[in-house]
Amino acid sequence: MGLNGWDGRWELGSGLLRSLSFVVDLVYPPGCAVCGVATGRHRGLCPKCWSVMRFIERPYCEVLGVPFAHDLGPGLLSAAAIANPPPFDRLRSAAFHDEPARNLVHGLKYRDRTDLAPMMASWMLRASDGMVERCDAILPVPLHRGRMLSRKFNQAAELGRHLAQQSGKPFLPATLLRIRHTRQQVGLGAKAREDNVRGAFAVASGHENDVFGKRLVLVDDVYTTGATVAAATRALRKAGAADITVLTFARAIAETI
Ligand SMILES: [Zn+2]
Repeated sequence: MGLNGWDGRWELGSGLLRSLSFVVDLVYPPGCAVCGVATGRHRGLCPKCWSVMRFIERPYCEVLGVPFAHDLGPGLLSAAAIANPPPFDRLRSAAFHDEPARNLVHGLKYRDRTDLAPMMASWMLRASDGMVERCDAILPVPLHRGRMLSRKFNQAAELGRHLAQQSGKPFLPATLLRIRHTRQQVGLGAKAREDNVRGAFAVASGHENDVFGKRLVLVDDVYTTGATVAAATRALRKAGAADITVLTFARAIAETI
């Protein structure tokens, strides 16, 4: 499905949300979710921000989801996916992590703009390429309890919860745990990031059946080096997960390969 003709604006879906929109109006006047220019509706982008939003589209590597500069036919893998296969089965992301997308990620993560999560999740659902529809459950990359207290909410869980609502799939926020407090990955190199999160995740005891033999979608806000989702994936594999799709809103990697 191409983006042509799709205006990307988010309609409030239910009566409950419509009545709540009055409250939202008081906090955030209707406007573009990125630049704030008046648009008269919530959770959409103005035409200018929409035009520079870079969604990730096919053709791309079936494993890493990295766009190819040229369409060389279906099922093709990138050299990186062949030389260094990731522990997860595939990676999909909605957009490149540059200006409009980064602004949305920061809004959700640091400015408590949880009202952005439904729109971001709807773009992720589309980018999942049918993997959400085919999965058994959706899991967020968890925060450590200590960080959860200082941040109030987990942005990955916000995205995952809305993905589950929009797809009707089970949402399992308590299945995967971060068992070790880790430093923020921001500012660390690839090797340091890997060391930082190694062994940081585990499946909660009593939740083994959520994972064993299941097709799972693991959700995070941004994919950078992949160290965090790789460590989380290894914990899910160890518990017998059958298939793991990593789905992020944004991706901070080379544009095409
Ligand atoms: Zn705008």
